[in-house]
Amino acid sequence: MVKNHFVKYKELLTIHDYDKETDKEEFVLLPLEDEYVIGIYQARKNMLEYGQNIAVRKSVYEKLIEVSKDLKKINNNYKIIVAYGFRDMKKQKKYFNEILEEVKDKFTDKMEMYEYIHEKIAVPEVAGHPTGGAVDAAIFDVSKNEILDFGCDILDYSTTKCYYENEEITEEQMNNRKMLRKTMMSEGFAPYDGEWWHFSYGDKEWAFYYNKEKALYNQVEAERIFNKKY
Ligand SMILES: [Zn+2]
Repeated sequence: MVKNHFVKYKELLTIHDYDKETDKEEFVLLPLEDEYVIGIYQARKNMLEYGQNIAVRKSVYEKLIEVSKDLKKINNNYKIIVAYGFRDMKKQKKYFNEILEEVKDKFTDKMEMYEYIHEKIAVPEVAGHPTGGAVDAAIFDVSKNEILDFGCDILDYSTTKCYYENEEITEEQMNNRKMLRKTMMSEGFAPYDGEWWHFSYGDKEWAFYYNKEKALYNQVEAERIFNKKY
């Protein structure tokens, strides 16, 4: 029995607030590669226009290092690889509004329409990537110079194999997903069943998953991080 749960917009609305203190936390750019983390940005609709580096909150980077240390205990050739992190809030709004324009005539109920769009791109006020707390990650094997086999490529939304639990993938592929999820969760990340690669710390999805009253981070625009106009 497959029992994925796709977090709904309505559920994320139950997290009304974020902590103003933790939200002051700085952003860091992931190294393209260091001893523990590979941060290789993968283009998706050109959502990043401020360089090849992936930005995340400082705590997220520190946690990723710990995840990699845990992975190395399992196999010394393993490392965490991140394909995507921070997304400018302006872009989140832009892409959300593009879909909204396309579908708005098909719906009479606003909530129903938002839930529909939310499955494609998160409603901006609850979105994880613009907080710098969400990452799209996988496990990289340095001895083979490739990502482990997870059943479908990271960021491949064209197949339902991107759903965490899946009857179409092999036992080995499922075990790789379990290993990734277990190590990420042991450092406090929340998983997302709709994409085996998506994890977050401190955003509304994380707060909802772990029954927290507030998120740690709010969504931000790129200017705040990089101190220039985009
Ligand atoms: Zn993601």
